[in-house]
Amino acid sequence: MSTVVAELKAALGDDCVRVGDAIPERNRDNTSLGTPLPPAIPRALLLPRTTEQVSTALRLCHAHGQAVVTQGGMTGLAGAAHPDNAEIALSLERMTGIEEIDTSAGTMTVWAGTPLQVIHEAAEKAGFMYGVDLGARGTATIGGNVSTNAGGNQVLRYGMTRRQVLGMEAVLADGTVLTALNKMMKNNTGYDWPQLIIGAEGTLGVVTRVVLALHARPEGVQCALAAVASFDDAIKVLRATERAFPGGLLTFEGMWSEYYKIAIGPHMRCSAPLPDEHELYLLMEIAAGPDEGGRERVEAFLADLYDEGTLRDCVVAQSGPDRQRIWALRESPYEWNQKMPPAVQSSLDISIPLNRMSEFVATLRQTVPGRWPNALYVAFGHIADSNLHVNVRVPQAEATPTTKKEVDKAIYDIVRELKGSVSAEHGIGRMKKDWLPYSRSPAEIAVMRSIKSALDPKGILNPGRIF
Ligand SMILES: Cc1cc2nc3c(=O)[nH]c(=O)nc-3n(C[C@H](O)[C@H](O)[C@H](O)COP(=O)(O)OP(=O)(O)OC[C@H]3O[C@@H](n4cnc5c(N)ncnc54)[C@H](O)[C@@H]3O)c2cc1C
Repeated sequence: MSTVVAELKAALGDDCVRVGDAIPERNRDNTSLGTPLPPAIPRALLLPRTTEQVSTALRLCHAHGQAVVTQGGMTGLAGAAHPDNAEIALSLERMTGIEEIDTSAGTMTVWAGTPLQVIHEAAEKAGFMYGVDLGARGTATIGGNVSTNAGGNQVLRYGMTRRQVLGMEAVLADGTVLTALNKMMKNNTGYDWPQLIIGAEGTLGVVTRVVLALHARPEGVQCALAAVASFDDAIKVLRATERAFPGGLLTFEGMWSEYYKIAIGPHMRCSAPLPDEHELYLLMEIAAGPDEGGRERVEAFLADLYDEGTLRDCVVAQSGPDRQRIWALRESPYEWNQKMPPAVQSSLDISIPLNRMSEFVATLRQTVPGRWPNALYVAFGHIADSNLHVNVRVPQAEATPTTKKEVDKAIYDIVRELKGSVSAEHGIGRMKKDWLPYSRSPAEIAVMRSIKSALDPKGILNPGRIF
């Protein structure tokens, strides 16, 4: 056993330090989510229960120059929590629970290892709601959400995780504990350091607690699936809905025709609320108010858009199961790898300025079939936030070891040309480092490196992530 691991055991106790076969599979590998990195057994797995233990662990690792990778729910899609053999993994899985819900401030103070779903349930029980929601809610932790600045399905209405965080406790690389469990909306006292830690993918500090802003629960939420003939029409629907239901539009997701056909096709078998002849499908959730008439108001509004020709077709969910069927369409890509024929898949999470979105989709439709004639390709996502997910699947039999990188480059070249971003939500991690200069200038990357070396001079926290 190495000196640093022996010292960690002595300081934290055997119960908090695991090595070799005692390290569970989930802490070695998140390749099941499509992360093309080899599974690795970290030098040790640390399972602290308190902030003090995190601080002790980092102080010792810092003294030894030992690299540490922080792990939450391991649902990140950029490979950032995926360990390397030379690293020590530090998992927040024992630091869970809600410390306090302050109903007068409208805040919740939680431990970083708490799963997102637990936060939603506790907020609801207290008569509030939490503004960030995403498909991995059962496993993803709030510490992971904060560190990736997670977005999800309601960013349009509530913003990304950055906007939910009022206060934070974090431990720096040398073990220094910073505690700023602020609950106030306004606090302009110098640098807002928690905002630097948010979205830093664990490279600047280990988040141990956060104070989250809660919101009033939206009432009378109606779910609709609509079809339009163009992205321009989708934008008309978006702006008209915002005007008709001020503050009520929670979700505005887009699924282009190639996507819809796969979702309802023989492999994924989602039910088809609308025929597959349209260009673009919109999943909308609208809070129409507490009274009985909410659904009728949404139906009447959508009927007007249909009559004027902006919508080509539309259904409004009449029940919970109807709503689930509509959402199943949107969530179907999560099961592609299990249900579709074997392929090399590129899953890209990009942003494109709204006024260039149509151009992006047109270029995608030329580029992919032009180079990989048998590849499947789809575009879908949180379009009101400028955020597209693009999946390309090249049949296994036609792929080479470099196919994934070539597909990634072909798409990112379009993103760069259109002045988009190579990561909208999932971060850079280990997988997108080559593409960071597509979205950030040398001067910006130099500032990022300065911040990193100021807070983590020995570079022990999540080395090799982001840059
Ligand atoms: C089905 C599915 C749907 C998804 N949908 C969305 C979506 O809509 N929007 C979206 O943004 N993402 C989405 N994701 C991606 C993922 O869920 C998010 O990135 C999530 O925030 C990761 O949380 P986690 O706890 O799993 O973090 P992990 O994967 O464990 O870690 C992610 C990063 O955060 C760091 N980290 C984790 N905890 C801490 C901590 N306490 N302190 C410091 N650093 C830490 C890690 O080192 C790593 O860099 C989805 C993933 C899946 C599998």
